[in-house]
Amino acid sequence: MLARKLDLIADALAQGTGATIAVRVMETGRRKGLRIWFNDLHEKNGPVAELKPHGLRSHGINIGFGSFSAGVLEQISNASSEDIQLARSLVRSVARSAEIDIPGQSKDDWLVRDGGFRIDARYRHDHTPPHEDEAIIETCREVIVPLMAAMAELIGYDVVEDPSASDQPEVEGGLSPATVYRRERNPRNRLLCLRIHGAQCRCCGLNPESRYGAAGGIIEVHHLEPVSMLEHPRPYDPETDLVPLCPNCHRSVHTQRPWPLTLEELASYMEEAGNA
Ligand SMILES: [Zn+2]
Ligand SMILES: [Zn+2]
Repeated sequence: MLARKLDLIADALAQGTGATIAVRVMETGRRKGLRIWFNDLHEKNGPVAELKPHGLRSHGINIGFGSFSAGVLEQISNASSEDIQLARSLVRSVARSAEIDIPGQSKDDWLVRDGGFRIDARYRHDHTPPHEDEAIIETCREVIVPLMAAMAELIGYDVVEDPSASDQPEVEGGLSPATVYRRERNPRNRLLCLRIHGAQCRCCGLNPESRYGAAGGIIEVHHLEPVSMLEHPRPYDPETDLVPLCPNCHRSVHTQRPWPLTLEELASYMEEAGNA
């Protein structure tokens, strides 16, 4: 039964959004659906995601706000341009596998302006009937997790900070090591990075999950080349500035401080050691 798999879905949502999530099954015969919202925000406020069967082969998904959404909309209006950019990138990452519509707005530069904001998506299942649990879990992973992560980024769910990282001084150019660290630890950045690049180390090619299996393949997110950002300041782009690294390579690039080795520098050390 789907109900037993709700914990799995809530865990995937919590990991991807960095927030705790409530999930409820809506059942009418075989036409099962889900209703998903942030645990600390009331279901009537939103944002709430709904998943329903659509035709014989698809799921319809929508995210919208409730009639008491003023508080959360106020919070969203404080989102920084970096938060907005990450939220848009997350939505773009969904548009690769699902049809997305943001009524009245462009898919690339949408904004949550009022409670009428919504995102509609259609995700097609060619091999598994949409009423089966596996299909529902796949739709959650591919569509609802990244969409709710976009909403979580706008709402501003905090990332737990490592105090040792945040007391490092600002460096000329305005980008502090703490900012880099925060980006690397942000669960929404991590989700986006892994959706775009997969879970293979960009430096040594290791896919920790396929090597260690159920014991837990750990892959980390690295913020590339902040040094070059200081020399030629350019806006941060979560789609190109983040790459997956295995823990060993990640530790290695950060042996140089405050700014890490570039991947090219690490590669040349590996070459010198005879591991081209
Ligand atoms: Zn590696
Ligand atoms: Zn790093």
